[in-house]
Amino acid sequence: MDIEKLDFEKGEGLIPAIVQDAKTYRVLMLGYMNEDAVKQTLEDELVTFFSRSKGRLWTKGETSGNTLELIDMQADCDNDTLLVLAKPNGPTCHTGKKTCFHEKKFKPKKHKLDFLLDLEELIYDRKEEMPDGSYTTYLFNKGIDKIAQKVGEEAVETVIESKNNKKKKLVGEVADLLFHLMVLMAEKEVSIKKVVKKLKKRHKKGNHKHLGE
Ligand code: AMP
Ligand code: ZN
Ligand code: ZN
Ligand code: ZN
Repeated sequence: MDIEKLDFEKGEGLIPAIVQDAKTYRVLMLGYMNEDAVKQTLEDELVTFFSRSKGRLWTKGETSGNTLELIDMQADCDNDTLLVLAKPNGPTCHTGKKTCFHEKKFKPKKHKLDFLLDLEELIYDRKEEMPDGSYTTYLFNKGIDKIAQKVGEEAVETVIESKNNKKKKLVGEVADLLFHLMVLMAEKEVSIKKVVKKLKKRHKKGNHKHLGE
């Protein structure tokens, strides 16, 4: 971002700055920055506004401790608005809500596939805490031989179902296979992220010729 180019004139010295959570992209709040506020934000890497009510520079969190750590910042197409990516330390709104815009219908929807990451996290929790009565705990207790055997079984069942025309049953077997595969991955500390990275790398290489295998 080029601070020289920012158009402070239009808003009589103030530019609106929209703050977004760098991780979830939720809009956290809107404030106004003058030139000093922009400079201080970039220098201290803590989001600082010019408070219109206080009539002075205001570093968000200066009294509450609920600061906004600067991650990145960009100006819009005509340099009269700022978009700030920040890592919030605590709730951003003074009401104790995470965001000043807290109506639920404005919350970004999680992608449905994110559930796989939630499930991965749960599997790792089981591995660490080993709660009684959990099937996942049972698998970890039995160890890799049992887990690998289950993956083999579910793979075979998936193959068998793929030859039938009952999609519902096939979906069930694929789900079982995925779950047990994820337990195996957790046992060996192979993350989904790592696997996706590998898949992407292969994809880039144009290395998807497996004919004749
Ligand atoms: P803080 O900057 O979090 O220490 O809060 C100091 C004061 O700034 C609060 O008492 C509020 O008056 C005001 N304030 C804090 N957070 C916000 C916000 N997200 N939007 C508007 N005003 C705020
Ligand atoms: Zn604009
Ligand atoms: Zn608020
Ligand atoms: Zn191959």
